[in-house]
Amino acid sequence: MQHIYDTVVIGGGQSALACGYYLRRAALDHVLLDEQEVSGASWLHCWDSLTLFSPAAFSSLPGWLMPESKGPFPSREEVINYLTQYEKRYALPVERPVQVRDVCYRNGVFEVKTSRQTYLARTVISATGTFRKPLIPAYPEQEEFTGRQLHSSTYKTPDDFAGERVLVVGGGNSGAQILAEVSKVADTSWVTLDEVIFLPDDVDGRVLFDQASARYYALQHGQKAPSSQFHVGNIVMVPSVKEARERNVLHTVRPFERFYEKGVVWPDGRRESIDTVIWCTGFGFALDHLACLQLPLDEKGRAQVEGTKAVKQPGLWLVGYGNWTGFASATLIGVGRSARQTVSEIQAFLQQN
Ligand code: FAD
Repeated sequence: MQHIYDTVVIGGGQSALACGYYLRRAALDHVLLDEQEVSGASWLHCWDSLTLFSPAAFSSLPGWLMPESKGPFPSREEVINYLTQYEKRYALPVERPVQVRDVCYRNGVFEVKTSRQTYLARTVISATGTFRKPLIPAYPEQEEFTGRQLHSSTYKTPDDFAGERVLVVGGGNSGAQILAEVSKVADTSWVTLDEVIFLPDDVDGRVLFDQASARYYALQHGQKAPSSQFHVGNIVMVPSVKEARERNVLHTVRPFERFYEKGVVWPDGRRESIDTVIWCTGFGFALDHLACLQLPLDEKGRAQVEGTKAVKQPGLWLVGYGNWTGFASATLIGVGRSARQTVSEIQAFLQQN
């Protein structure tokens, strides 16, 4: 008889580890399956200079504070080290590299089909993040363009763009940070749908989180949400972006109308030759491995959930994909709450089924 786990967690990033922490505390028989070779999940693939928006103490998973960082905000390497140590500290049972290809449900048991073997489980937590689903908007005649196009998920360093004419597209923090460093070596324009809003220098991710939390709790308790001056999509003035401001390169232009073979056509009809377009246009949700369960997805690719529990599939939870699976669940500091609630629901489910 093949072993049946209480819970299989799909993923090995911060969301999966936070779930692992609570599964261990609940003494449930579980395993985490991650397709990466080593710890660090999507942080392994982010660009070299990426830093968090919040100080270490406000970027921690349950149980153990992130050690203080060298700079004001933890670097990519410091986050990877933290996740690696976290996994070891709690002896989380992560198996790597194991890619989950399909999850099916038969006779009350999940069959988790992977690159290694099929795992059986009574419950499944999907914690596969967004990084595998880069989004690039469609522009007319995009396929005609012979220059280079890449998404921020594959951008590593500005060195590749020295001397080029580069468009950075997207008005979020990734656009701002990538523009900040590429503009040092290339002729750049920053293309955004609207003017972007820069936060005051002393407002970082911690302030944003506190404000968003206050609003969330007020709404949860039927109270009037306090108005907030700042929004999560606004640009955080991390050191590289401040430095770009000093060089006077933080200007945005509205989108071009279409591509042509050598570049883009601007709204006034001007054609401009472009070497590279870097799309900093966000991510969808990595849920392809759940296709066999035939969950209805909305136009944004989201399954229907109550908290983190899948409405249409008993025994399945989705953790860490963004606010739709729990307030601030796509952050290190926010995912702990979703993970704790998820594991407590799994305990109740296992007792009843
Ligand atoms: P991931 O980190 O993506 O981990 C998912 C893991 O599952 C990966 O290892 C993936 O390979 C694996 N996986 C996927 N599919 C499968 C499969 N089928 N089988 C097996 N394994 C699979 N967050 C903060 O808290 N603070 C910040 O300051 C911050 N800054 C950010 C800046 C940028 C530019 C970006 C892009 C993100 C930032 N984030 C920040 C958010 C954070 O990086 C992500 O939300 C976070 O990595 C999500 O964690 P996760 O564990 O849900 O997913």
